[in-house]
Amino acid sequence: MKNKLLDIGGNWREGELSLRQVMKKYPEVSPFVIIKADVQRRGVEYTERALAMVDPDIHLTKVRSDYSNKEDLTPVSLMLRDGTSICTSVDVGGNTSSGRDPYLVDAVDGVSVLIDEDEVIEEVSYWEKPDYHSKTTSRGTPMWHVVSPRPQRLCIHPHQHCDFWKTPGHGCKFCAMSAVYHAGNKPELLDVGDILETVNEALREPGRNVSIFLTGGTLCGGENFLDDEVDYYVDILAGITKLFGGRRFPSQLISTAFSKRQLRRLHDNTGLTSYTADLEVLDKAMFDWICPGKAANIGYERWKERLYQAVEIFGKGNVNTGVVVGVELATPGGFKSEDAALESILAEADELSSNGVGVVGCVWHVAPGSVFRKQVSPSLEYYIRVAGGFDSIRRKHGISVDMDNYRRCGNHPDTDLGRI
Ligand code: SF4
Repeated sequence: MKNKLLDIGGNWREGELSLRQVMKKYPEVSPFVIIKADVQRRGVEYTERALAMVDPDIHLTKVRSDYSNKEDLTPVSLMLRDGTSICTSVDVGGNTSSGRDPYLVDAVDGVSVLIDEDEVIEEVSYWEKPDYHSKTTSRGTPMWHVVSPRPQRLCIHPHQHCDFWKTPGHGCKFCAMSAVYHAGNKPELLDVGDILETVNEALREPGRNVSIFLTGGTLCGGENFLDDEVDYYVDILAGITKLFGGRRFPSQLISTAFSKRQLRRLHDNTGLTSYTADLEVLDKAMFDWICPGKAANIGYERWKERLYQAVEIFGKGNVNTGVVVGVELATPGGFKSEDAALESILAEADELSSNGVGVVGCVWHVAPGSVFRKQVSPSLEYYIRVAGGFDSIRRKHGISVDMDNYRRCGNHPDTDLGRI
């Protein structure tokens, strides 16, 4: 396939298969997954009618998840009829649609729907707010500042900045974390007591959460490199473990790639059940270009080695790595065609999985505030081919997708394919 990225312009639809064409060409892929991938790629806008359907007492709105905008009642995100989540991004500093116009969320006959080119694509519902959301901790911190919910789980982001951004040129080029951090008034580190109180409160709501998820920016410091990050996560996870009577509990940590000694500490001192360290892109040269902080401090091959060591400690099926699918086609350092990119990243995913590490993909939503803010993401068809490839590779190597499936995470089109 010819790379259409450079001449996408205003008539981008002429250069790639449409949603309907992709659905027709890939009948083995759920149409809900294809819709999800395209909405995550292109983003959404809400009409006044769609916003009028929002009930702030019921629905999660951006006023509750973005410290910087107190008036915005835009829904945090969307759900499809079959339970497929669509994790739409919070854009800071302007809207973006990866070079293409976004989907519209509108209301037709009292039902919220996705619209594209005046066609109703599918019904959607808005994510609902959990019970703990309007409560405060004993320190007076609003609990929504501490734990952000998905429909499936509790998400905790204890370190809300990233040390890589503190060295000029070291932040990952697709990442908007620094822009988001500086646009709001978030504390850099959450208080551990606030986290434990909030999790304890959130767990009172029956039937809502199937896992607890932690992630945050890198903390480089400590006696050994990354010890501060490990210490912080051990404190939090050990505290949550006590809430579960000292037992292991369904949980996932996405962190920097820790050393074997650090991983052992994390495993043996907490009830954590699954571990992720994101390579972000499956190619050493592109890792060096796109993730310079990770490359300078750990390096691509050592990152992989640490993932393999994590499998020894947490077990196969409990370790994976996330990639931002599409950044491997960024210009000028990326692959020149989608075919070349696909062949290369699937070969690398196969090698990782032959060593017990699952590979999961996020759809690259070009983020304002990132170095890559002017880039254009690949075609929808590319995302569906990658999703099918990752799913097949996991099946070939017998790697369970449960730690990151639609019920525990909901962000990855490829793990949605594991439902069948
Ligand atoms: S490690 Fe990279 S992707 Fe993760 S927060 Fe830091 S800069 Fe962003």
